[in-house]
Amino acid sequence: MESERCRLAPVMSSRSPGPPPSSAPASLQVRTADFRNTLALVWQASPRHAATFVLTSLLSSILPAATLWVGKLLLDAVAHAGAGGASYTRLLQLLGLQVGLTVVGGLLSTVQGAARELLGDALQHRTSRSILEKASGLPVEAFERAETYDQLQQAYREVGSRPLGVATQLVGLASALVTLASVGALLARLGWAVLPLVLLAALPGVWVSNKFGVEGYRMLRRQTHDARVQNYLGSVLTSDALVKEVRLFGFEPYLLSRWREYYLGFRRQLEDVVRRRSGWTFAAALFSALLVGLASALVLRRAAGGGLTVGDFSLFVLGLAQVQGQVGNVLNGVSGIYQNLLYMRNLFGFLELPARDLNSGEEWQGPIHSIEFQDVGFRYPLTERDVLRGVSFRVERGQALALVGENGAGKTTLVKLLTRLFEPTGGRILLNGQDAALFSPRSVQREMSSIFQDFGQYQMSAGENVAVAQTGRMDDEPGIGQAVDRAGAAFVETLPEGLQTPLGRLFQGGQQLSGGQWQRLALARLYFRGASVLVFDEPTAALDARAEFDTIEALRRETRDRITVLISHRFSTVRLADRIVVLEGGKITESGTHGELLALGGRYAQLYELQARGYAEEERQKAEG
Ligand code: ADP
Repeated sequence: MESERCRLAPVMSSRSPGPPPSSAPASLQVRTADFRNTLALVWQASPRHAATFVLTSLLSSILPAATLWVGKLLLDAVAHAGAGGASYTRLLQLLGLQVGLTVVGGLLSTVQGAARELLGDALQHRTSRSILEKASGLPVEAFERAETYDQLQQAYREVGSRPLGVATQLVGLASALVTLASVGALLARLGWAVLPLVLLAALPGVWVSNKFGVEGYRMLRRQTHDARVQNYLGSVLTSDALVKEVRLFGFEPYLLSRWREYYLGFRRQLEDVVRRRSGWTFAAALFSALLVGLASALVLRRAAGGGLTVGDFSLFVLGLAQVQGQVGNVLNGVSGIYQNLLYMRNLFGFLELPARDLNSGEEWQGPIHSIEFQDVGFRYPLTERDVLRGVSFRVERGQALALVGENGAGKTTLVKLLTRLFEPTGGRILLNGQDAALFSPRSVQREMSSIFQDFGQYQMSAGENVAVAQTGRMDDEPGIGQAVDRAGAAFVETLPEGLQTPLGRLFQGGQQLSGGQWQRLALARLYFRGASVLVFDEPTAALDARAEFDTIEALRRETRDRITVLISHRFSTVRLADRIVVLEGGKITESGTHGELLALGGRYAQLYELQARGYAEEERQKAEG
């Protein structure tokens, strides 16, 4: 479980590369539907193993009473043997019975253990798959919300133990009740007050453990946020991506001390709980000892009066331990089911998140010749502010459109709308004159390809890194080769196994690439998908200036039948665009060609001058140097 989590965490998000923190569910409400669904989940995971587990558990549960009874008969028989009571044959019969019970018990528990293990494994697989399937159907914005991301992590963490926990505890509860009833019936023979006293003696201990179980759990819930922060601090210290900055600025001690502060906070809370729990546990043990003493005195009084056999007394002593254990099992079973169900809510809550069906809508066919934004507005879910307002522009086949604006102006959001990762909350987007909303996002996305600033570095083979852009052509080596050539990623041929070379340092045998090499592969990915719309979302970080310039210019020359959308801070690239749109605070404030915008003398001209002056200065220094 742990290893699985760690493996998935970095893949699922760059936000938290380390293992997720421990945390408790958000609500203390248990729903009966969750109970039913959990049992259904367990049953469906493997009906055969679930049935075997239930059957063997219930059969095992009558063994303790049977063993006690045979033990009592054997003792009584031994006591009378000397006085000519029981024959050797009778003793052997009883012994045989006792051995038989032990063998049956061993067999049942072996089968039960095996069924449980296989059931747990099937269940873990089934639940993990549901979570991953769910995650792959979630809209992109779900991953950008901390709550959803928490939910995903929590759900994933509970996969291993919780559903099986509920099932095991439910079966355990039923078994404990059967055992309790059967052993209780045997004890009831020893006097009417004995059983109630013994039952009562078991209660305080269970009450205490339950009370502090719930309390520990509330404590975890309170700590969720802090644990996340602490985990993040730890992950900064162990991150390969951040180690350079951390070392250079030398803020390890700062991170460590903050990390430790969180720990000390948790520690104080834990110490408080442990102190109080110890006090209560001791008090409960005292109370229990008194009641057991009283019950024993009653039994001994009866023995003194000659009303008990040795077997009866042994039955009392052993039965007492059984009853105490089983009462604990019953009550702990109830609270365990309750607690596990609380955790299951995390899982169900996650599985119930609204998914976005990327395939719903008409199937988009053929290339995109024009994109038109009509008065488009957008507000992120659960926020109060429109990040895009009244955005209108049109771009056609053969044109390159550049988006310019300061950080936070809304450029990336606009690209997310264009690529149908998000849907506009106002206005509409027309593709070839038709409302994009009519078409399934997935079919429209097939006509789009992009390179994002934080492009993926997939820890897979070089070929896969390119071909994931169109998995239907995974084996199209010539196609992959072409994309690699166009992207200037010739280094791939020098890798030990060419396209088959595993990349990255996450797994054994992986070849680590330089930042620039990863960039070229991301570019090859962009080319590999024969799309009619190409999006470059701030390739500044992804591509060096030369590569960016070459790429855009090559695109302009070669691909007259495509639409190129580009976000860049480099005016050397931006000026190549046929049309430049300036975004400020979510609105378009200027638009036109480079020449037009310069002539306008507005914001664009200002920003351009600023950068041009910087370049000129650089050039001058170079010339002087
Ligand atoms: P740009 O790409 O121009 O830097 P963005 O499109 O990333 O700008 O962001 C535009 C605005 O939307 C910013 O104010 C940003 O804080 C906000 N924003 C971006 N992503 C989210 C999100 N997932 N949830 C809420 N607000 C967001």
